[in-house]
Amino acid sequence: MKFEEYRIAPEIKQNLEKLGFKKPTDIQYKSITPILRGEDVLAIAQTGTGKTAAFAIPVLHLVNETKKSARADAIRCLVMVPTRELAIQITEVFQKIGQGTKVKTFSLFGGVEQDPQILKLEKGIDILVATPGRMFDLVSQGHLKLNHVEILILDEADHMLDLGFIKDIQDVIRFLPRKRQTLFFSATINETIKKLAYSLVHNAIRIQISPNDKVAKNIQHAVIFVEMDDKRFFLERMVNEHPESKILVFVRTKVRAERVLAAMERVGIKAETLHGDKEQQDRLKVLGNFRTGETKLLIATDVSARGIDIPNVDYVINYDLPDVPENYVHRVGRTGRGTQKGNALSFCSAEEKPILAEIEAFLNKPVQIMELDKLEYAATKDFSKDVTAADLKALLKEAEQFEEMKRKKSKGKK
Ligand code: ADP
Ligand code: MG
Repeated sequence: MKFEEYRIAPEIKQNLEKLGFKKPTDIQYKSITPILRGEDVLAIAQTGTGKTAAFAIPVLHLVNETKKSARADAIRCLVMVPTRELAIQITEVFQKIGQGTKVKTFSLFGGVEQDPQILKLEKGIDILVATPGRMFDLVSQGHLKLNHVEILILDEADHMLDLGFIKDIQDVIRFLPRKRQTLFFSATINETIKKLAYSLVHNAIRIQISPNDKVAKNIQHAVIFVEMDDKRFFLERMVNEHPESKILVFVRTKVRAERVLAAMERVGIKAETLHGDKEQQDRLKVLGNFRTGETKLLIATDVSARGIDIPNVDYVINYDLPDVPENYVHRVGRTGRGTQKGNALSFCSAEEKPILAEIEAFLNKPVQIMELDKLEYAATKDFSKDVTAADLKALLKEAEQFEEMKRKKSKGKK
């Protein structure tokens, strides 16, 4: 089924076409119709499968269709998200898909002044995308009224729980009308998430996309065995072999991120880093550069990249394996978004093999191994532009030749 065939506002269809969305992804196919019918939905689908549009499309249609009869000054749909970056990203999706309709979407998050936000709210917003903290502040101060909310959406619910937002969620929900439509979206599911979900949705339509495959089907992922100290050469090779590609590299710590950046700079490769030590403003700028493709190589830690949708990431490289097996799925899910194909490669050192085993246990299947013979491995190092490495190689060679000479000499004496 194509988007053209859905019974949704023509403006929305046009916008989808502009975005290059021709047919729905699996999760969209399964969610849109029940949401349009007014059902509660509990949806679990891997990261990158298009969950945002799965709720944005039908909700925009519903809110738009009834806009005339509804109160103009009331928020009718509330989307709760875990982070500011996600609030911005999801608002953008609503605005793009809703362009030309009567629906106004606005995002609300902490860390900035609240007065301009209050002014904006007073002008009339239909759909509010918000992080729990700031929303709760404004509600308690009486600046934000949620008593006309008809649709509540919890997005990235697993991430919200990880960040400890459960109490904030429950606090905010008390301000909503009991009679409402609730949509619950998560990339993963476990007992805690289920409990939260069932406290919110009633007789929900349950949708789960290939629960046995934690990695989306359009992502090819493999592991390559590389010694810790050699990883930079392999990254260098990867970048040089794919000069046009956008590559997202994950490392374990902020310090490692800066170190890898320095190693890349030494060999003339431009890159940027993204981690928790950076100011919000810096982080947004770095992300922006990577989005537009101005930066082709981004070196990030886990926290900084969760849930973020960056178009056209060609490769995800796990420079270090993630400490938490689940993060493997979040990381490789940064490529192969929507209907695109993606590739991920993990560098696994001898000391990381136990982590790989944990990841495989979590995935319930082995990760494909990319075999490298000794020659190819050595060549990767030899071709490095890294002068320190090259110098070292030259030195070693000299030393070898010297040894050889000595040996020959001593033989001659005998
Ligand atoms: P999720 O929330 O499931 O991780 P997103 O909603 O962030 O995924 O969507 C991932 C990517 O897929 C986005 O870049 C989006 O533009 C793209 N996308 C979503 N739906 C479609 C579609 N029907 N056709 C093509 N691309 C799509
Ligand atoms: Mg999402």
